[in-house]
Amino acid sequence: MVIRHAARDELERVIALIATRKVGPWPEELRGWEDLERILPGSTAHSARRDASLAELQEIRLLRDKVATVLLDPAAPHAPSHLGDLVDTYGLTPRITALGEPIGFLSFRAGMVGHVAERVIGAALAAFSSGEAQYIHECEAEGCITPFLDASPRHNRAYCSDRCSTKMRVRRHRQNQADDIAGS
Ligand SMILES: [Zn+2]
Repeated sequence: MVIRHAARDELERVIALIATRKVGPWPEELRGWEDLERILPGSTAHSARRDASLAELQEIRLLRDKVATVLLDPAAPHAPSHLGDLVDTYGLTPRITALGEPIGFLSFRAGMVGHVAERVIGAALAAFSSGEAQYIHECEAEGCITPFLDASPRHNRAYCSDRCSTKMRVRRHRQNQADDIAGS
């Protein structure tokens, strides 16, 4: 059970990373190392230099965007092969540290990009293998596209947060009132 929770926590972090990508009018929110460290704690410790380059950040954004296409549409016919392409690109090999421990991955890429690839692609592989990837959805609230993992027992969550859920409930209520007035 502890192992499953650890895997889910990591998947939640990867989903939070996906949420930073630039989509339509929503701006890029992975702006620097502080953002990366907040979302994936421990990752910036793997940077070779203190002043990690913009090229590295750009590469991590591209990796994030590729993982996003796979995780947000896991039933797409090409999703598994795209995930396999990412494994090849970052040269991931499976590693086990002890009996009963989850499978980890080592990238042939050194430094922070390699570390982030190991974690992000590793979490995506685990989510595919467990089937949990099918419960990653984008919020249905108007004006929100935040991805979230629907871990509810009946898998019927539609909104990313209580805030979005409340917002839409208020909106439905107002709509009903407006309909009542129009109908009376
Ligand atoms: Zn939302």
